[in-house]
Amino acid sequence: MMSQVALRPDTTDARQVLMNPGPVATDPRVRAALAGPDLCHRESEFFDLMTRVAAKLVATGDGDERHAAVVLTGSGTAGLEAALASVVPAHGSLLVLDNGHYGERLALIADALGIRTERLQSGCGTPLPLDVLAQSLAGPVRPTHVALVHHETSSGMLNPLADVAQMARAVGAEVIVDAISSFGAELLSLRDLDADWVVCSSNKCLEGTAGLSFVLGTRERFEQLRERRAPSYYLDLGRHYTAQYVTVAPAFTPAIPAYYALDTALDLMLEETVAGRHQRYGHLAELLREGLCDLGLTLVLAPEHRSVCLTVVSLPPRVAYGDLHDSLKARGFIVYAGQDAFERAHFRLSTMGQMTREDIERFLRELREVVKHLQEISDDA
Ligand SMILES: *Cc1c(COP(=O)(O)O)cnc(C)c1O
Repeated sequence: MMSQVALRPDTTDARQVLMNPGPVATDPRVRAALAGPDLCHRESEFFDLMTRVAAKLVATGDGDERHAAVVLTGSGTAGLEAALASVVPAHGSLLVLDNGHYGERLALIADALGIRTERLQSGCGTPLPLDVLAQSLAGPVRPTHVALVHHETSSGMLNPLADVAQMARAVGAEVIVDAISSFGAELLSLRDLDADWVVCSSNKCLEGTAGLSFVLGTRERFEQLRERRAPSYYLDLGRHYTAQYVTVAPAFTPAIPAYYALDTALDLMLEETVAGRHQRYGHLAELLREGLCDLGLTLVLAPEHRSVCLTVVSLPPRVAYGDLHDSLKARGFIVYAGQDAFERAHFRLSTMGQMTREDIERFLRELREVVKHLQEISDDA
């Protein structure tokens, strides 16, 4: 017998507000696109879709005909691993700027790939030490590549990508940037060449569904990758570039429904513009942060370091994260645990995705009630 799949109606009451930093809440049109037609990836319909999506990704990154976007099936980490594996040659060396969980992940990926790596660690939530970077870059053994995270999702800190890129390029080092939680909402321009390689994914500020990651760069540099094989078969960017831009057919079976959703999400992205989305998220973040401060909670970052995408905030006194999470979930809000240095005494709230002012206002009301309730229980115990 066929079983009936129960679909949750998308009414405001039943909807969960996702305040985790991705996957984010999507537009109903994006979710509807997932149910596109069955399609063979070796037919012209898919080739058109693939080419169209790549062009929209380049446009979102403020690139032009000199740039390419190579799309991989896999989450953001697949894109990072592909970039590191493919871009840093066997004789190369990598300097990783690590000021949080995702900076650390870059170093761990590089280690797994056996890349010669130095790590400049400055602590989660601490600005990157550009003076130390300058010394490293001026040293006798200069790295061929520098990798950093644009928006460090463990602290909410926006790192000075343009400054780092300028310093690295001045000594001839290529820059690989994890822009997974910033692309589409924080300004980044391929034309101004903030970085050589920009890695992103479909399910954060682009507001698509999970399943695709991609690497943006110049066609010239991608062409160079074709001349060597990466120490990974599946995550070889040169192979995927050749497939997607030269042969114009995907190397392997892609996540076709995720492509459908991303195609639609990118239309909405380009209509809103990156500046528009930056402003929309920024207003939500401001409203949220004011409300959190009104509740007596503390934000960890100084205002000049904050992104519009994520807020790390102190846990209320006498409230355990697990209880807070469960109580808020019962009221329709998914919050996210703290990470790294902010694991014990903090939690995270994203303002990415389809979220409204009403969502934030309702969240702040519910949070106030939940905290009061949990503190009363704690006082009684
Ligand atoms: C989300 C995220 C990633 C990738 O995580 P996946 O689970 O692989 O999608 C990498 N870097 C940053 C900064 C992120 O926010």
